[in-house]
Amino acid sequence: MANGDINPRSELALKVEELSGQNLFACYQCGECSSGCPMSQEMDLLPNQVIRYLQLGFEEVLGSKTPWVCSSCLTCMVRCPKDVDVAKIMEALRVIKLRDGQNHVDLKAIRVEDDTPPLAFISALRKYVG
Ligand code: SF4
Ligand code: SF4
Repeated sequence: MANGDINPRSELALKVEELSGQNLFACYQCGECSSGCPMSQEMDLLPNQVIRYLQLGFEEVLGSKTPWVCSSCLTCMVRCPKDVDVAKIMEALRVIKLRDGQNHVDLKAIRVEDDTPPLAFISALRKYVG
């Protein structure tokens, strides 16, 4: 194989790119996404670190809570100088886990209060349960 044929992407990176429609290798790690992310305090990996893990093929990223904490606010996408839609990458990581049968919440353990807005409940189910 000629050097030009070598694809540096891991299987996981290819899957994330397929699901998200994003080019992970467009990211040059400037950190603009992470510095503007309103949920970064709750994350164990910052948004740019999630992308770096994927670029390097580190599957540990699948165990990160960051994709579940991401609120899909799109601040990162607006700030990114390379037009990377980080929220779509987070969604792709969630989808990979959910399709693998790994729900993020246990439905049986959920207690719904009378004043829980139905929309919030349904939205959470769509995000956390496959
Ligand atoms: S803002 Fe864009 S280019 Fe910069 S680290 Fe985030 S995803 Fe990568
Ligand atoms: S979409 Fe997610 S990762 Fe991007 S800024 Fe909002 S919470 Fe952070």
